[in-house]
Amino acid sequence: MAGLACADVLADQGLDVWLFDKGRGPGGRMSTRRISTPFGEATFDHGAQYFTARDPNFLKAVDAWERRGIVAPWLAVDAAAWVGVPTMNTVIGDMASRHGVAFGKHVQSLESLNDKWHFKLEDGTAGPFDIAIIAAPAEQAATHLSLQDFDMARVALRARSMPCWTGLFAFNQRLATEQDIIRDRSIIAWAARNSAKPGREGPESWVVQANPSWSELNCESDQAIVSRVLLDALRAELGHALPEPTIATAHRWRFAMSNGTGDLALWNSEKGLGACGDWLHGPRVESAWLSGQFLGQRITETVNAASAPGMLV
Ligand SMILES: Cc1cc2nc3c(=O)[nH]c(=O)nc-3n(C[C@H](O)[C@H](O)[C@H](O)COP(=O)(O)OP(=O)(O)OC[C@H]3O[C@@H](n4cnc5c(N)ncnc54)[C@H](O)[C@@H]3O)c2cc1C
Repeated sequence: MAGLACADVLADQGLDVWLFDKGRGPGGRMSTRRISTPFGEATFDHGAQYFTARDPNFLKAVDAWERRGIVAPWLAVDAAAWVGVPTMNTVIGDMASRHGVAFGKHVQSLESLNDKWHFKLEDGTAGPFDIAIIAAPAEQAATHLSLQDFDMARVALRARSMPCWTGLFAFNQRLATEQDIIRDRSIIAWAARNSAKPGREGPESWVVQANPSWSELNCESDQAIVSRVLLDALRAELGHALPEPTIATAHRWRFAMSNGTGDLALWNSEKGLGACGDWLHGPRVESAWLSGQFLGQRITETVNAASAPGMLV
């Protein structure tokens, strides 16, 4: 979200923007996992569950997405909660399509040569670029920044992300409960009937997120064991036996959420190096969008100042 929000601002200014993402498809921490079952394809929004919109500019963006039918309010949470439709990553897919993002491209390192940036990828290099922007979670951004700008790296090192173990369960029948959402019960921080979100089709599916302290304590545990523990926690919470799941797995987000350093975005105009992401503003989709937009505006100011009459470019 942060990288695309930044790209939107820069592309609006007529700049040529290239994006590389190591993920197989659009989403980042707004990803959706699709898994085939004998009863149809189950989908799981296994990162962000919903997002809120309070900033007037983000509200405008959400309003435009709603008019185009790619987001909808999830009233079971509250009137200010939004989800991508039909899946959470639809919004990211839509934004990514404007910029032709290269997926499956892991940027391994950045190199600055003669004032131009070059990216080392697994299968070659990309560049030269005038500006490099890192829109990865704090711990991953810190690795790249530490070789280029120590002050920026120090900010990234200050932001500590908590992990989140997430259980994904599908069933061949609806679970016998009217609750679609469970919050803060035993080791569960959040559990939701994914298939009850607006615009969803497919079999009964549940996402169960362990709380941060349990996730941290069990960060290196075996995926199959975690999946069993989270299913047991859901069963205990619902208070009755569950049908055998057709899918039972778990995903570990090693860098799920960070509280935000309060910087909004980082920009070194001399080096042409920027960083954006939720870790600079707060652990929310909206914060990631605001961080990206803010960085885009800072870069635009620099570019406009450099091309003003009488300035050296
Ligand atoms: C389990 C979970 C639940 C959450 N629930 C909510 C919620 O209910 N509401 C809410 O508002 N927010 C929630 N969040 C937080 C929200 O998902 C994030 O704040 C937001 O999506 C972060 O966006 P971002 O662009 O900063 O980072 P990301 O979405 O992480 O994007 C970073 C991108 O960088 C790519 N990348 C990283 N390193 C490299 C590299 N070296 N080369 C190439 N690409 C790279 C990644 O593939 C990724 O696509 C949740 C997050 C998690 C994990």
